[in-house]
Amino acid sequence: MTPVQLYDTTLRDGVQQEGVSFSVVDKLKIVQKLDGLGIHFIEGGWPGSNPRDVEFFEKARNLTLSHAKLVAFGSTRRSKVKAETDTNLLALADAGVKVVTIVGKSSELQVTQVLETTLEENLSMITDSVHYLKTKGLTVFFDAEHFFDGFKNNSNYALRTLEVAAEAGADCLVLCDTNGGTLPDEIAVAIEAVKELTNVPLGIHAHNDAELAVANTLAAVNAGASQVQGTTNGYGERCGNANLCSIIPDLKLKMGIDCLTDVQLANLTEVSHYISEMANLVPNAFLPYVGSSAFGHKAGLHVSGLSRWADSYQHVDPTQVGNQQRVLVSELSGKANIIYQAKEIGLDLPLRGKEAKKLLEQVKLLESRGFQYDHAEASFELLIHRTKPDYQPPFELVDFMVVVEKRRRPPTRRNLEEMLSEAMVKVKVDNETMHTVAEGNGPVNALDQALRKALLQLYPSLAQVKLVDYKVRILEESVGTESQVCVLIESSDGVKEWRTVGSSTNIIEASWLALADSLEYWLLKQKTLKTPSTE
Ligand SMILES: [Zn+2]
Repeated sequence: MTPVQLYDTTLRDGVQQEGVSFSVVDKLKIVQKLDGLGIHFIEGGWPGSNPRDVEFFEKARNLTLSHAKLVAFGSTRRSKVKAETDTNLLALADAGVKVVTIVGKSSELQVTQVLETTLEENLSMITDSVHYLKTKGLTVFFDAEHFFDGFKNNSNYALRTLEVAAEAGADCLVLCDTNGGTLPDEIAVAIEAVKELTNVPLGIHAHNDAELAVANTLAAVNAGASQVQGTTNGYGERCGNANLCSIIPDLKLKMGIDCLTDVQLANLTEVSHYISEMANLVPNAFLPYVGSSAFGHKAGLHVSGLSRWADSYQHVDPTQVGNQQRVLVSELSGKANIIYQAKEIGLDLPLRGKEAKKLLEQVKLLESRGFQYDHAEASFELLIHRTKPDYQPPFELVDFMVVVEKRRRPPTRRNLEEMLSEAMVKVKVDNETMHTVAEGNGPVNALDQALRKALLQLYPSLAQVKLVDYKVRILEESVGTESQVCVLIESSDGVKEWRTVGSSTNIIEASWLALADSLEYWLLKQKTLKTPSTE
């Protein structure tokens, strides 16, 4: 099978997703991350379209990439304009890259209805643009927009657009399923037709509107495409682009195509999470291969199977993609989950049948009060520790008080209605009681600040722990504001993330429990780093 080259367009097509945008600095970091992963081509943006991308390509000149080639994106020349005076093509030629991708129309209807030009003029636009960029010594990929729709509607014309691009010197013809509605067998048929026509390497660019972007990409590779375009985590407009985080392991682990080395593949999960963090999106737990739930097991039966044979309920070894198996603890679980989980976290508890059963009962009791442990492994671990008679918590909560006040200010004050939140916290560490007060932008933040103020005196390194996600779930919606609420907190120290849970009918208390667990868990892990009090 032909070798496959990976082409990431997260920085151009990926940012079309609602809510995704990257600063120039973010983009530069992402390029380096993708280069480290082993991606062959990284599309950085469209220098002809916006000043941010112009700045990006300017700064990218100083990047040293070990593997990848940076690509600038643009479109064919405008209608009735000479290629050498077209501002978009000039910007591409000046972008400081060796590879460019230009998009042109391949569908008759798109040419006549949207571009509003003649079929002949569109062909000249393709020819002139590819030719012009080739004379500048560039590698040119031609993105045949709406190719598959065009092929269905008027295959002769769609093929002709590819033919002229090839004749003008295009180095790869990228067939685009722009609207994302094509089926895998249709992809294969169209590619067979293109192969009759030309020997120029083919690429695939699929969108996910029919949830077939990955399947269509694999079908294209099977049919002979050697360039695979997609985005990290499948970001992209509407329902997204083909997700490289699925395509890469599919190619390598299922189809035996060495698009990355084993070592590179083992970085996939980390790169996926890094880019979602850059996009300011919580990593999607349910993404295949890289999601935190991708190898999570909840049902007791599965877990007892897993403890006998690791692959009994998983399709690949999660470590191959840098992910890990996770056993979720919940009231659906059996004893096997509890034993397995305790073993996973390296607890030297003599957790045999009986103890495990007792712990399971406790989990079930707490779950009936709204604690959800399947996404709060750190709270679960604390729960196990707390069953040990000699467990010494790093701190103990004595009391807390939170005041939330809304005051109407005199009309001379600009902010007429001000919200104030203040928390008082009493915590005990090694028989010493500390009493701190802090303000915050809300009651939970005030509590967090007050608790940290107390603990930082003894544990200065706690400063690196940050709350990265805070979720509130209402458990019994029918009882309105009297509902039980479950608070899930995700924390990070910049290296690792962990999740904790709290539950109560009082949202402040639920938050407090999750917050206190988050800090207790981290301190427990750092035990050896404890700095003695300076007092
Ligand atoms: Zn696209």
